[in-house]
Amino acid sequence: MGLVLPPRVSEKNFQKALDAFAGVVGKQWVLATDEDRGTYMDIYAAGDADQHIPGAAVGPQSVEEVQAIVRIANEYKVPLWPISRGKNLGYGAAAPELSGTVVLDLGRMKRILDVNERFGCCLIEPGVGFFDLFNHLQENKIPLWMSVPANAWGSVVGNALERGYGYTPYGDNTRNICGMEVVLPSGELVRTGTGAMANSACWQLFKYGYGPSWDQLFVQSNFGIVTKMGMWLMPEPEATLGLNMQLPNPDDVGWAVDELAPLRLNGVLLQSPSIGNSLRIAASQSQRSQWYDGDGAMPDDVLRQVLQKFDLGWWNINLRLYGYDEVNEAHARIIKDAFAKHTKQEFQVVKWHRGDPIADSGAGVPSTNALQIVNWRGGRGGHIGFSPVLPPTSEHVLKQFHSTKKRYEEIGVDYYGSFTLFERSVTNINLMIYDRGNSAMTGKVRALFKTLVADAAKEGYSEYRTHLSYMDDVALTFGYNNHALLRLNETVKDALDPNGILAPGKQGIWPKALRTERA
Ligand code: ADP
Repeated sequence: MGLVLPPRVSEKNFQKALDAFAGVVGKQWVLATDEDRGTYMDIYAAGDADQHIPGAAVGPQSVEEVQAIVRIANEYKVPLWPISRGKNLGYGAAAPELSGTVVLDLGRMKRILDVNERFGCCLIEPGVGFFDLFNHLQENKIPLWMSVPANAWGSVVGNALERGYGYTPYGDNTRNICGMEVVLPSGELVRTGTGAMANSACWQLFKYGYGPSWDQLFVQSNFGIVTKMGMWLMPEPEATLGLNMQLPNPDDVGWAVDELAPLRLNGVLLQSPSIGNSLRIAASQSQRSQWYDGDGAMPDDVLRQVLQKFDLGWWNINLRLYGYDEVNEAHARIIKDAFAKHTKQEFQVVKWHRGDPIADSGAGVPSTNALQIVNWRGGRGGHIGFSPVLPPTSEHVLKQFHSTKKRYEEIGVDYYGSFTLFERSVTNINLMIYDRGNSAMTGKVRALFKTLVADAAKEGYSEYRTHLSYMDDVALTFGYNNHALLRLNETVKDALDPNGILAPGKQGIWPKALRTERA
């Protein structure tokens, strides 16, 4: 992939900026060959990778180096796109929104600075992967658990900054953030929460600090570069109790949500269970061509054969209770009674007690097995995720499920969906899996994505996170009072980043000088 310059920057000045970056980090950490650029592209792109071509990448090793890079970027008006580990697969991976932007790869900053066993928290740098933190806790026999996303290749910080989630009671990763260190677009360094006291005794203990609370303003935003993050970790419980069930019919997801929602709200269930259709499992263990090679979406009768072969339900529910054994048993009875109103099936029960192998515990044990699914269609696989948030009722969930499935069938993509139940909302992740080499297929997927955003907006649903190519579309669905929220975001953006150098276009927020780039 040849060099694409960012807007406003001449080739000469771009080169000067790269030379200045090399003066800070050393030549070997300025990555600007065609091959380097290829590495930082969206490796799962649905035919739109060329809309998000990185100009280069630079890899600092310290906060001071990040600050120096930011100052140089201001001088030459070269935009930067910070990433932690750049594994944001399905949402753009390591690529920037605006072509020509230089990826600021923080992967070398990967120190675990502190783990506080007594109070269940840690302080880490952006490059710390889920595997790194997990291994650290295990090797040092620290009885604290993390919550990991289905594909745990990425970083703890990157995931929390994108509002990714896992499935333990601490699954909503962004909620675990407690105190950050941030390099502002000016190059200035700030610490949030009580970290703003030079000698804070509570930086990772008390989230709010004093006055406005800034942590969440750096989440899904382009207001700063997070160089340290405090995270709360879950104390290892005495026991866990898993309840698994496979529901045979497509509409069973409705009553399951209605039964589980009040239990999730009142704290019988502390984790956010995910109800996923069986393609999630079938696609990680087989390829579509083994079952069906037609062009359209896989017909329901073929799907039935797949379910039979793998002994799966249409939907698969894995619930997990965490805490004291006796309390888990009591809560399990309540859940079983609720399900008994609708089915004669029994839950498959999985019990774990402290000291048993962690693999079966329901702790966040990192894995990358979920990546297998991209082989479903054959060829060079990829996927994109459409992820609206709904109220947790059967009415909303069933309507959304049927309308999305119909849309998939219209373009010949196999339905792949899950509903994750939080206290007061359901996040509905729909993956579209494709062969990236099949441009007819990826073209249809891109059109489908826009349709799904519009369909959801009509119902009053927004996405909780989106792919680079749709950041503007989704931002524009937040249209109340002539897009007052977007205008507020861009007022803050311009105040913090007058030269518009930090992640232009992220989450649809554009700096003044680059607003003409809005899609
Ligand atoms: P992961 O490490 O989980 O693979 P990424 O590094 O791909 O996650 O990060 C996802 C997105 O989050 C990035 O594209 C960027 O917009 C934002 N991001 C990640 N790390 C930082 C950071 N340290 N500071 C600011 N934004 C970040």
